[in-house]
Amino acid sequence: MDELVVGGFLPVTTIDFPDRLACVVFCQGCMWRCAYCHNADLQSAVSKSAIPWGEVFAKIESRKHLVQAVVFSGGEPLMQPAVVDGVKQVKSLGLSVGLHTNGVQYETFRVVLPMLDWVGMDIKTTFSDYHKITGQAGSGEIVKKSLALLLNSEIAYETRTTISPGVHTVSDILTMAGEIAAMGVDTFALQAYRAARDDLYTLETKNAPFFSKEVTDKLKALFKRYIPRHH
Ligand code: SF4
Repeated sequence: MDELVVGGFLPVTTIDFPDRLACVVFCQGCMWRCAYCHNADLQSAVSKSAIPWGEVFAKIESRKHLVQAVVFSGGEPLMQPAVVDGVKQVKSLGLSVGLHTNGVQYETFRVVLPMLDWVGMDIKTTFSDYHKITGQAGSGEIVKKSLALLLNSEIAYETRTTISPGVHTVSDILTMAGEIAAMGVDTFALQAYRAARDDLYTLETKNAPFFSKEVTDKLKALFKRYIPRHH
């Protein structure tokens, strides 16, 4: 089996796994090209600056008494089947494992899910509008299936949506939130749009309607835990 292709490694973070110090493994490659992607360097399946998995694992092993968890992020970690072995190896060190995923690799998600301790799943928009962001027909239905699988597991999770003002309206966000709440989602984070090309005033203006009191109150009413990430 091919080795996991890793595009970056963060030795310690406090924000990528709830309440735990964690390392982050940024897996190379993503099948989508979301306009707001903050890890565009990781979209290509190959990278000249890729770090060999053996080197990454040695770094994790050397930190196993300093952190409590490892998060596989990306890119889209589940695009590489080798992530399954990576997760197993990290678990063998006694560390918790988290996963950031867009949910579209259902079969690999099904295999890896029982080994995970926490999942952060992107929900891009309403399931029927997914193609507007991903360009892939039917992608929303696969993500819906992965979300249902996650909700039927005992694994801790967060769903999160990054605002894309050119694509999302406030109404889209509320419709999507209603859809996932109806499926049983109880934890949802709304993440501000943060494109580097826009200055602070423009960002604030574009994000403001999505974080208004009216919208916030509606989202708070839908979820047990609503997390606004405005900054
Ligand atoms: S799914 Fe995530 S990693 Fe892939 S292009 Fe979209 S934002 Fe970037």
